[in-house]
Amino acid sequence: MLEKYNQQLKNELDKLEKLGLYRELTVLDSAADSVVTINGKEYLNFCSNNYLGLATHPEVKYAAIEATKKWGTGSGASRLICGSNRLSQQLEEKIAHFKSTETAIVFSTGYMANVGVITSLAGKADIIIIDKLNHASIIDGCKLSGAAIRVYKHCDCESLEKVIKNSHQYRRRLIITDAVFSMEGDVAPLKEIVSLARKYDALVMVDEAHSTGVFGKSGAGCAEHFGIADDIDIQMGTLSKAIGCVGGYIAGSNELIALLRNKARPFIYSTALPPSVYASAIKAFEIIEKEPGRRRQLWENIQFFKTKLTMLGLNTENSQSQIIPIIIGNEKKTIQIAEQLKAEGILIMGIRPPTIKKGSSRLRISLMATHTIPQIEQCIEKMGIVFR
Ligand SMILES: *Cc1c(COP(=O)(O)O)cnc(C)c1O
Repeated sequence: MLEKYNQQLKNELDKLEKLGLYRELTVLDSAADSVVTINGKEYLNFCSNNYLGLATHPEVKYAAIEATKKWGTGSGASRLICGSNRLSQQLEEKIAHFKSTETAIVFSTGYMANVGVITSLAGKADIIIIDKLNHASIIDGCKLSGAAIRVYKHCDCESLEKVIKNSHQYRRRLIITDAVFSMEGDVAPLKEIVSLARKYDALVMVDEAHSTGVFGKSGAGCAEHFGIADDIDIQMGTLSKAIGCVGGYIAGSNELIALLRNKARPFIYSTALPPSVYASAIKAFEIIEKEPGRRRQLWENIQFFKTKLTMLGLNTENSQSQIIPIIIGNEKKTIQIAEQLKAEGILIMGIRPPTIKKGSSRLRISLMATHTIPQIEQCIEKMGIVFR
């Protein structure tokens, strides 16, 4: 690179370093399981979104291997260009059934699903109303859409109503919220949001990235948990967290999904997922259906972990899920604590701006169904040492 530009980049990086915001990759030499290997040393892993342990489930792995043998490693082109693999259709049927919607469409990532659906539904004539703490992929979709964007206070329906009251002039009103918030672990008041949407004639979209496989009687997510699946117009989710694979999806009406096939640029202009991913995701959904014990175990782990954390005098904020934030505040201090935990054999990442608000840097703990009670006890013991 030209020296002048290289120097500019270096200055930018130096600034990040000074602010305690410089990011580096941690190289894993193992699967993202409850125990991971880094530089030949084992760590208890409390930062994976592989909530049900399905990424290493023997049947899920086997499905991917068999599909690779039969169909190869790559899909050859985007879904519309070179034909859609039979397995992609089966997966979409599976998702629609699981989410109780007419149909569904799979994207290569959850990020792309959010960007694709928002930019397809909203444009200059429309308004999108979002929770202040929605995921970055939702924010990016909103910005790219060109629609008017209004933000309401986190999980605050009074604030939402104030905003939506003044939105008559727009062609379409779209409310978007995460179901479980990725950095707080709290749950959106979906029932109230849905009833406000009906009152003011707005569409509702819910991002179930962290709730699918975890919430609801059959693991379908918060829409099922609250019994309002029929009232949510656009159900978004990812295959990369509890499902243990990669990919994203939108589930909803036939018209919505047909529109996405015709308009969603991340769907049209990016290569389809490899067949192995469709096969393993189908298998993962089957396991979620036939092994409810995994979900139960996860909830027992959550209960146990939170009780122990509270006994340590640590505040779990408003966490109502497998995601538990411990707010530290200062950026550098957060990284320091994460490093101390790592030295004790516990892997928990420090989360810093711009992922969260400045001054609210935190440890983000995520629990898995495959954590054993002794593993959780060890984590708690080490946290007790570090936070003493
Ligand atoms: C992870 C996440 C996404 C993006 O999903 P990917 O499949 O990882 O691209 C979208 N929304 C939320 C709330 C997430 O946590």
